[in-house]
Amino acid sequence: MTDGVRDVIIIGAGPAGLTAAIYAARSRLNTLLLEAQYPGGQAFNTHRIDNYPGFPDGVSGPDLTEAMSRQAQVHGAELLTSQVQGLDLSGSPKGVVTSEGEYAAHTVIIASGADPRKLGVPGEAEFTGRGVSYCATCDGPFFRGRRVAVVGGGDSALTEALFLARLASEVVLIHRRDRFRGVKALQERIAADGRIRVVTPAVVEAIEGQEFVTGVRLGVPPSGAIPAPGAAPVPDRVEVEGVFIYVGTTPATAFCPGELQVDAAGYVLADEEMRTSVDGVFAAGDVRSKGLRQVVTAAGDGAIAAMNCEAWLAERGLIS
Ligand code: NAP
Repeated sequence: MTDGVRDVIIIGAGPAGLTAAIYAARSRLNTLLLEAQYPGGQAFNTHRIDNYPGFPDGVSGPDLTEAMSRQAQVHGAELLTSQVQGLDLSGSPKGVVTSEGEYAAHTVIIASGADPRKLGVPGEAEFTGRGVSYCATCDGPFFRGRRVAVVGGGDSALTEALFLARLASEVVLIHRRDRFRGVKALQERIAADGRIRVVTPAVVEAIEGQEFVTGVRLGVPPSGAIPAPGAAPVPDRVEVEGVFIYVGTTPATAFCPGELQVDAAGYVLADEEMRTSVDGVFAAGDVRSKGLRQVVTAAGDGAIAAMNCEAWLAERGLIS
């Protein structure tokens, strides 16, 4: 074991994990926060967040999550960059195996979030990093003055299409249905933005290129969705130099053992108190099976999980 037993280990430093760390540290729990990359999670990669309360003009994802990270550390949480590889939840304390060593804690909060889902079409893997990207905030500036495609119809695709429209010569927004899943306020901004061309209903059949992406081949969705009356016909191919894929997420649970119950899609099952199927293990944020995945609900989950860790420890006389 790398060092002493912690009161709580929080896995993942997105908005859920960071909020849990703020609450746990303020409760004077010995708090270790493990993050594989950089604090902020998916919110860090979001150019502008318009619906986090308190920011009438929106807030950048990096600004918001950097402030959360500082707040957690100001209150005493220890943040370590470390990839969690496995959990031993069979005994007490619980073990957390990471790339940097093994840690132990009485309680664990799983706040590992979700990863971008892949489209699974030819060319996607081959051109990742050479035109295919899952992060407009990170890679958008490489495509200044060039035509790019955004694939998807949820809040992420719409938010990032709007961001890319400020850089690219044109954004081609490709979605498999005529109706967008994303919130109406974003749909209105997309419709009003002359730099965004909407191509629906269409699926990407292949991403093509030589050394770098040169275009995407399009097809009709298998559901046979009928184009809206008056809609422009879907082209067979669009020439683009970048393809930004936002077709949802999959839970980041590769390290979770079998005794931790998950739903049919693999998200961790937890009750309203964020208690999972394993005693002393809590889940918070996007990794949890839930209806609304937002920064504000992730933060709420994190606060509840941390307060219930404190109660769990107090009930067992592990803290005074
Ligand atoms: P999402 O809401 O699950 O949307 C995924 C989109 O990708 C859907 O439009 C879906 O189409 C499409 N899609 C899925 N699989 C596909 C495939 N194989 N081929 C083509 N299209 C495919 O995912 P998200 O946009 O990443 O958002 C995830 C969560 O984060 C949501 O809860 C969202 O509200 C939240 N979020 C919020 C904000 C914000 O409020 N500021 C910003 C970003 C994300 P269908 O519509 O046909 O299913």
